[in-house]
Amino acid sequence: MNNDYYNSFLECSERVISENKGPGSFCLKNADLPDFVKDNCKVERMKAALNRSIENLDEEFSRFEKKFSGKHNSVFWAVDYNDVFESLKKLFKFHKTKTVRLPNVNNSTVFRELGIKYFLRDEKIELSEDGDMQFFAVDLMFSDTGSLLLLNNTNKSLERLSNARTNVFFATIDRIVGCSDWADVYRQIVSYRTGCASQDYILFRGSQNCNNYLFIIDNQRSNLLRHKDLRQSMTCADCGRCKDVCPVFQTIGEEPYNNVFAGPVANITLPYLETFETYRHVAYACTLCGRCEEVCPLALPIRDMIVDSRQIMLNEGALEKDERKRLNALHKVLPNRKKMNGSRFLKRRLLMKYLSSEYRRSHHILPFSKESFNTMYKKKSENG
Ligand code: SF4
Ligand code: SF4
Repeated sequence: MNNDYYNSFLECSERVISENKGPGSFCLKNADLPDFVKDNCKVERMKAALNRSIENLDEEFSRFEKKFSGKHNSVFWAVDYNDVFESLKKLFKFHKTKTVRLPNVNNSTVFRELGIKYFLRDEKIELSEDGDMQFFAVDLMFSDTGSLLLLNNTNKSLERLSNARTNVFFATIDRIVGCSDWADVYRQIVSYRTGCASQDYILFRGSQNCNNYLFIIDNQRSNLLRHKDLRQSMTCADCGRCKDVCPVFQTIGEEPYNNVFAGPVANITLPYLETFETYRHVAYACTLCGRCEEVCPLALPIRDMIVDSRQIMLNEGALEKDERKRLNALHKVLPNRKKMNGSRFLKRRLLMKYLSSEYRRSHHILPFSKESFNTMYKKKSENG
């Protein structure tokens, strides 16, 4: 790369290429936590910083926008993907865009969420390595410097960033944190998903030579934000460790979710990102075993949030009347030790009363054991 050109670019854009430790040095097996997570209080501090940012999104974004915006940098706020597409159409018209360079969509949740490939196809915009416009998915926005973290980007991407006439960046509102010092820790956390510990990354602050547009997209995340108990789910780094250990997800896979989001965190977020009607059932795709929490580098309280989400849906009337009646009844019976230690025939009768006939027809209801675990345990203790 030409040195003058490179230095001039550095004036406005900071590039950090990670120390090359060789492929796989952070690749984890069985979702074990790497040492840097166990030992490093940096992760604790980054977690606190992410939580602080989610709690103060308005301040973070006003700080970020002031730093990022400039002669060549603009921010577009988008409520949903329709907003994004309307603005993109105007940009295409203004810049007479015929081709776009799109990175591997499978690695970018935001592109899959937007369905960007289908939009470009419908607009008859061709995909090309040297597109008139370059699209980038943003991994994090830093409000202290107004910079963008672009993971998995190499020298080539850096050249592209500065050579293109127009760069367009896409980020969702939960991808912001107050301090750019967290870039490296974040990269290491996410390396589990990408499978590449030595991924290069760029901290981009804009450049003098080209136009940079940043879309900051809500797409129903403010609906999650309304619920204080569920906010932490927005700090998830989407590293994928929890999916690899979740017994339910490992059994059912992604297909039943029929969505870009699937797995333990989706069990919390999907009913709010979509609708209660279509996704309330995913809150029950969980046995509350806690394995996800053991491997989460950000120690997200996934079980608590799933239980809170179930409660919110119950309170907000998201459940059918019958379903609500059943859950309320179970809520009364399950914590009642006397009833649970009682006759198994009575328990079965009670259960059948609260299961819909449709459910009873389509499921095999297992019989209760002769004695409850509690009774057996007591007897065993008494007999020494
Ligand atoms: S607590 Fe729920 S989401 Fe987490 S691993 Fe267990 S079943 Fe999966
Ligand atoms: S919840 Fe934790 S383990 Fe699961 S994807 Fe998010 S950061 Fe990773």
